[in-house]
Amino acid sequence: MSVVAQGAVLPTYARQDVVLVSGEGAWVTDSEGERYLDFLAGIAVVGLGHGHEAPLAAAHAQLDRLWHVSNLYWTEPMAMLAERLSARFGGAQAFFCNSGAESIEAALKYARKATGRPGVVALEGSFHGRTLGALSVTGQPAKRAAFEPLVPGVVFAEPNDVVSLRAAVNGGTGCILLEPVLGEGGIRALEAAFVAEARALADEHGALLVFDEVQTGVGRTGTFFAFEQLDVAPDALTLAKGLANGLPIGCLLVADDAADAFEPGDHASTFGGNPVACAAAVAVCDAVTDELLATVRAHGETVARRLPGVRGRGLLLAVEIGRPAGDVVADCLERGLLVGTAGETALRLTPPLTITADELERGLSILEKVL
Ligand SMILES: *Cc1c(COP(=O)(O)O)cnc(C)c1O
Repeated sequence: MSVVAQGAVLPTYARQDVVLVSGEGAWVTDSEGERYLDFLAGIAVVGLGHGHEAPLAAAHAQLDRLWHVSNLYWTEPMAMLAERLSARFGGAQAFFCNSGAESIEAALKYARKATGRPGVVALEGSFHGRTLGALSVTGQPAKRAAFEPLVPGVVFAEPNDVVSLRAAVNGGTGCILLEPVLGEGGIRALEAAFVAEARALADEHGALLVFDEVQTGVGRTGTFFAFEQLDVAPDALTLAKGLANGLPIGCLLVADDAADAFEPGDHASTFGGNPVACAAAVAVCDAVTDELLATVRAHGETVARRLPGVRGRGLLLAVEIGRPAGDVVADCLERGLLVGTAGETALRLTPPLTITADELERGLSILEKVL
């Protein structure tokens, strides 16, 4: 039962009637003292689990030392995070902002300036955020309809359909934008051959290939970046959700060998590169070890063995249930399990990457009962 003043909040979310007040690991507690096993973790945000010691200590220390200066100056956490991400990528430069949508805005501007072309090819069913630019490249008509006209020049291709991709890309294309696993679009993984074709088309036409790894990045799919499983490297990628374990952050990462674009004055964000968020993110990067990534892959396989209809990569999973998923989400909440939806008839499971085998088992047995 809710104890907050709901009337003062614009109704942009269909919120569950529960007020969450604390969290530890894979568990959260509501205002009545009920505990829930968190199989959503934000939405693939709190990758290391609630209150994880490493980012918590790093954020606390930075909060006490310095919590904001202008981007007209350097800070250590921002520079360190850029170095960590560059090393993971194999040579890249970072621009920091505060959300996934902002990282997409940065990518769209970067691609326009680098190529001089406004055309974008994105995918049907994709999701890239709610700001007008990010919404323009989101392939979900229902989310767009009330807000037209949006940014022109966007063509949508069918995921995993190389014929439709070839038809969409031409000499006016500056950016091919793909989620390696479509997240909000139902947890649908792109096939290696499709992504390889996108790489070839981008090279042929001089467009940038940009991966939106806002949801797939930072270990969620069992590798630090999801593209590592695809044998194709992008010119740029975006990160946000899992990067600082729940503090607001976004990042555009541009490969060192991609075309140059940004100069001082081209793009900015007052809060981007916030030292507290960046300090937490450095700790997250260091905590996403090869060992943790192997566990993520193994946990994903466990879920796929236990439940029918599972798809996805690592711990970015959906379970197709063939009936309205919203009802099942409410049933799970009743039984102490937080899950999400991935489209009309699928549940979304994105537990913390650090979830234990016992906790995973416990959540799966609740799910089995509900289903
Ligand atoms: C969540 C998400 C976004 C938008 O992120 P916000 O932080 O909500 O703006 C963009 N792209 C993908 C793939 C996402 O999952």
